Amino acid sequence: MSKLADLTVPAPTPTGETQHFWDALADGRFELPYCTRCETWFFYPRAMCPTCWREEWRWRPASGRGTVAGWSRVHRPGHPAWAAAAPYLLAVVVLDEGPRMLAHVLEGPAVPAVGSAVRVRPTAVGGHVIAAVAVEEAS
Ligand SMILES: [Zn+2]
Repeated sequence: MSKLADLTVPAPTPTGETQHFWDALADGRFELPYCTRCETWFFYPRAMCPTCWREEWRWRPASGRGTVAGWSRVHRPGHPAWAAAAPYLLAVVVLDEGPRMLAHVLEGPAVPAVGSAVRVRPTAVGGHVIAAVAVEEAS
């Protein structure tokens, strides 16, 4: 398996709503949209809060902690640039703040089970940084 930093994969395409997310990750920070109207965290970033449909939200530092809701071992990536990293794990993570996020699972001794504790690790992949997760505690 090749190192993630050495992969040449397509970069995310930031939008007006997501640019801050990617910039924060590149600085080693994990921030999520937080609606100041209904006091709800949400992800992915978008113009309006998906709970109350207001545009009254701001970026807020998040814990980066969560639990695995499910995972899959990817043997045939959706894009050929990821083939050198295969097989790898993708997990649906329920963040402690509430939102769910699809994340690359970093290599480690533990294979995650549903309910395993994970922590977000901003990780260089090619020329950009993604919000990968590391398994903290196998369930
Ligand atoms: Zn709201």
